[in-house]
Amino acid sequence: MNALDTLVELSSQMTLEHAEESRGAIGTTEPSKPGCYSLKEQRAAFVHPAQLPNGKSIQLLKTLLSSACERDCFYCPFRAGRDFRRATFKPDEFAGLFSKMNQSGFAQGVFLSSGIAAGGVRTMDKLLDTAHILRKTHGFKGYLHLKIMPGSEKDQVYRAMQLADRVSVNLEAPSTERLAKLAPHKVFIEELMRPLRWVEEIRRTVPAYKFWNGKYPSTVTQFVAGGADESDLELLNTTQWLMKNVRLKRAYFSAFHPILDTPLENKAAVNPMREHRLYQASFLLRDYGFELEDLPFTSDENLPLHTDPKLAWAQMNLVHAPIEVNLADKQQLIKIPGVGTKGADAILTARRTQKLRDLSALKKLGVIAERAAPYVLLDGKRMASQLALF
Ligand code: SF4
Repeated sequence: MNALDTLVELSSQMTLEHAEESRGAIGTTEPSKPGCYSLKEQRAAFVHPAQLPNGKSIQLLKTLLSSACERDCFYCPFRAGRDFRRATFKPDEFAGLFSKMNQSGFAQGVFLSSGIAAGGVRTMDKLLDTAHILRKTHGFKGYLHLKIMPGSEKDQVYRAMQLADRVSVNLEAPSTERLAKLAPHKVFIEELMRPLRWVEEIRRTVPAYKFWNGKYPSTVTQFVAGGADESDLELLNTTQWLMKNVRLKRAYFSAFHPILDTPLENKAAVNPMREHRLYQASFLLRDYGFELEDLPFTSDENLPLHTDPKLAWAQMNLVHAPIEVNLADKQQLIKIPGVGTKGADAILTARRTQKLRDLSALKKLGVIAERAAPYVLLDGKRMASQLALF
């Protein structure tokens, strides 16, 4: 198998992994003629458009160093014993291939993970070797997201932070009990939570100039939403804890869908809208000053699928107590549907020189005025509008 064939084999299932702010993958259609790929086919198989934490858009290569894995996570296409063709890169082989792709403009960044062989520590060493060769031998200065393997040692976490722009540990489930239903041989606290705590501990004790580009790498995690029959409340409770205690930048939610020839192959797929609502709620917790108790959980501790959680909160709390836009502080303004953090700042700036009296004034400030209308007063007056439902 040549290096490009290896890459196609390894990348074919990587849409399961939400690593960056994806703007929609180009696709994962495997080219039908191995060894004879057109440029478009090559890119379609493994390069995904992604938005980086700094807002820049790049083509991101998402792949594994190896699809051989000794673990047996119930949901995973790479689990041990599953019958499919496995592939493995040597660190210098992958670094050389990616470097060529980068130089030819195919991909500007890379997200690198791996199946586990001979333990998490040994596998992490291979990922670190690859990152080191990319940075030092090939002089790659672009975006690098490194997965931290379950059970990695603290020194390895530190080394990953020195090489990468982003590091991540996939928790997969919100607690020890839930993880046992998904991945019986992963240890929630020792193997997964501990590396996330180390990242934060290192950020607090080591100066930023010791890290790649003189900046601390961001940290993210991923959950398999619905895979362990957990509730949205459980997922968001753990997410909020991570955001507050280890400065998690973002949680990714991947709605469970069954993979053939795995123990969960007969489990029903989770509605992808659940993933969307979880993202919306996690942003409310992270950026909008919401607490868990503000979120509109149903009696089964899930978010309603048919309503945006911010809108649901406003319908319960603001319809009869609308917010006066000319007097509210930023924390109140960002709770109004249709007002984001930028819109709230624009309102505060505009208020210094004028009174906001109608929806057109809000529109000019970047607010989705029709959405905000049922929940605001403008100079003491309610605005005529229909309640938006989505
Ligand atoms: S350790 Fe990772 S690659 Fe291996 S089976 Fe579990 S989720 Fe899949």
